[in-house]
Amino acid sequence: MRIVVTGGAGFIGSHLCDYFIRKKHYVICVDNLITGSLKNIEHLFGNEKFLFIKHDVTNYIHIPGKIDSVLHFASPASPEDYLKYPIQTLKVGALGTHKALGLAKEKNAIFMLASTSEVYGDPLVSPQNESYWGNVNPVGPRGVYDEAKRFAEAMTMAYHRYHKLSVRIVRIFNTYGPRMRLNDGRVVPNFIYQALRDKPITVYGDGSQTRSFCYISDLVEGIYKLLFKNISEPINLGNPQEMKIIDFAYLIKDLTNSKSKIVFKNLPQDDPKQRKPDITKAKRLLNWQPKVSLKEGLKLTIEYFRNIS
Ligand code: NAD
Ligand code: UDP
Repeated sequence: MRIVVTGGAGFIGSHLCDYFIRKKHYVICVDNLITGSLKNIEHLFGNEKFLFIKHDVTNYIHIPGKIDSVLHFASPASPEDYLKYPIQTLKVGALGTHKALGLAKEKNAIFMLASTSEVYGDPLVSPQNESYWGNVNPVGPRGVYDEAKRFAEAMTMAYHRYHKLSVRIVRIFNTYGPRMRLNDGRVVPNFIYQALRDKPITVYGDGSQTRSFCYISDLVEGIYKLLFKNISEPINLGNPQEMKIIDFAYLIKDLTNSKSKIVFKNLPQDDPKQRKPDITKAKRLLNWQPKVSLKEGLKLTIEYFRNIS
């Protein structure tokens, strides 16, 4: 297969590029490097099956030749990033999705959208299953990301219904691993960075809010399985092991043997109080579930951050 990965120089996108190349496919990575880095893909530059195109996908995407799949992963994803780039986040979710869908339609390719657990907003049900419609504040600071992704899902389904395009929508829950940016502001790199330097570990709010963390290799396997199944409705992919952020801070301190103190900072506006995927559908339809335990995944991630810092 010849596959386009938008956002392929980012954290998840670069792991997808690696995985598809390992599976002997051709990969075209399209990225404008707003939050990604060439460091994530430079090891692929000598590979004749890999091509990098620096391009902002909110503009028309022209790629000659046949394409079998378009995986649209371009978008800032860390809350700090999308607060810094609100307009770009809305544009890549809306215009970028439209352009990526147009490319898929032109090439008669399968289209996959990287959606997010954020479409559930601050959820009033837990765990969240795919039939829950969510509780999103459209005018709050996180609205730029959440609403862009909700629009992207609606646009994807419109192309499916109207143009009969073959589509996949993956609702990704918090995923972590090597190649996250040390300073991207998300909780995993923040806590590891702070712990490795014995700096205060910054828990936002009282730390009672929960998240469920999935290791990158598990996510990538789920995405690969979904691509080859004809399932157009959204599918949650994530690890259902739920944890309070305060307990997560202690876990990181423990795993890094850190002397850091734990300090409390203001909770950002609209920060979801709980997040835990219901993965019944992924288990049933994809025969997929995460294999890497939180401790195992964190050890690999800490090792990576030790080596680059
Ligand atoms: P990331 O910031 O590391 O990667 C995003 C990539 O998209 C970057 O390389 C960036 O430069 C690129 N990009 C952004 N706007 C672009 C544009 N207009 N044109 C071309 N490239 C552009 O983030 P990530 O964690 O790898 O997230 C990847 C995708 O997965 C995003 O769509 C995100 O919404 C989704 N997602 C991630 C998570 C997670 O936990 N990591 C959870 C839910 C959803
Ligand atoms: N968080 C924290 N300290 C930090 C960074 C994040 O307590 O230094 C909290 C944040 O408020 C949220 C959770 O950790 O409740 C996960 O935040 P992240 O930015 O990783 O992503 P989110 O799941 O909110 O999209």
